[in-house]
Amino acid sequence: MANVTTIEPHVILVPYPSQGHINPLLQFAKRLASKGVKSTIATTKYTVNTIHSPNISVEPISDGFDEGGFSQAQNTDVFLKSFKENGSRTLSQILTKYENSTHPIRCIVYDSFFPWALDVAKKHGIYGASFFTNSAMVCAVFAHIHHGTFSLPVKIEENEPLLLPGLPCLYPNDVPGFIKEPESYPAYLAMKMSQFSNVENADWIFDNSFQELEGEIARGVSEFWPAKLIGPMVPSSYLDGRIENDKGYGASLWKPLSEECLNWLKTKPKQSVIYISFGSMVSLTQKQMEEIAYALIGSNMNFLWVVRDTEECKLPKGFIESTKGKGLIVSWCNQLETLANQAIGCFVTHCGWNSTLEGLSLGVPMVAMPQFSDQMTDAKFIDEIWEIGVRPKLDEMLGIVKREELLFCLNEVMTGEKSVEIRKNATTLRDLAKKTVSEGGSSDKAINEFVESLNLVC
Ligand code: UDP
Repeated sequence: MANVTTIEPHVILVPYPSQGHINPLLQFAKRLASKGVKSTIATTKYTVNTIHSPNISVEPISDGFDEGGFSQAQNTDVFLKSFKENGSRTLSQILTKYENSTHPIRCIVYDSFFPWALDVAKKHGIYGASFFTNSAMVCAVFAHIHHGTFSLPVKIEENEPLLLPGLPCLYPNDVPGFIKEPESYPAYLAMKMSQFSNVENADWIFDNSFQELEGEIARGVSEFWPAKLIGPMVPSSYLDGRIENDKGYGASLWKPLSEECLNWLKTKPKQSVIYISFGSMVSLTQKQMEEIAYALIGSNMNFLWVVRDTEECKLPKGFIESTKGKGLIVSWCNQLETLANQAIGCFVTHCGWNSTLEGLSLGVPMVAMPQFSDQMTDAKFIDEIWEIGVRPKLDEMLGIVKREELLFCLNEVMTGEKSVEIRKNATTLRDLAKKTVSEGGSSDKAINEFVESLNLVC
């Protein structure tokens, strides 16, 4: 029988340095810390100062672009190659530093975008766990490509959807562009596929989803992607409340205008405000921004719209002034705090997986406006599978959502025929999300199993 040590095990977590990846890995670090695991985040020098979370240590690693991160690199390819080289070296140095301390690191939990981190773990004779930040459905599609169930490019037509064993069928608008036209996005596709390059050697695979939401999908591919579902990785105050004062992720690449938003929301009636955010990376066309702006004016409803500084120039002239009172535009907000506010009636989202899980965990009905990548698949689930929102149709000529269509969907979700059913479904999923991370819930049990194995001396 294995011995049980008295020293708390130490885990280092390595997120891809963007908001949508730092948030779930940092949240996992906090969950582990709350269960007696010493947790350290290793992130790039460029993002290291954006993380402030009690009980979590932060260590800098290098991606080779210490002054400006990704924006300093010429392209994704250059960035990832440099990250692999410099990241492996500097992560290894951190492991060595701790090797002779009272808290040697026992496991690297690495973002699945960084399969090289598993080699670092093995070189140091410790565990490696791959953390996937997409939905199980999206991971399952890529796992099938890796496994050879189908190869790229794949023909997907309205009358010839992609049919994969155990998964809902996928129509052209439900899959990322790089599945239909892989040659158009080689670097991005390579990064997605690299997640599976050595995954069979990982000691654990984690995914930010949960059994009640996607258990069946994960089980269908468990033979070649045996992931433990441990999500939703949303701060505890919004779910089980077991981590004290855990009201935010504790990482922000931009300064949130929290007070301004909360003071404004306070003046608005319950469920009267449309919240709009396209996350940290999407850049809409000027035409799409205009269509959203005119749909909001047409709705005559209150709205809170996150428009990043770099996007503001795309708003119609005079829009901010002419909608003052009814609308508030901010460059960044605390999204969870906003979604949890009782004034919010719906969430117009780009369907990034974190935003999807946040809307779902807080029971907020959604209007799904995906732009690329996994967002397309998440939108299908919001609209058709879970029925917790609606997805506006794209104008075939322009490839964007026109104002009339968005206005129709806003009315539908806020007060229309479907709104009662959508709100009911959203409440059901919110309750399941709470249950799964609460004591005895499926995600809680999966995390406990991981912690127990760490506690066993190898
Ligand atoms: N977010 C935020 N404030 C905003 C907009 C977004 O805090 O004004 C957070 C949001 O809560 C989520 C993350 O940024 O955790 C975005 O991640 P997601 O996967 O939804 O999209 P991405 O930015 O990666 O496209």
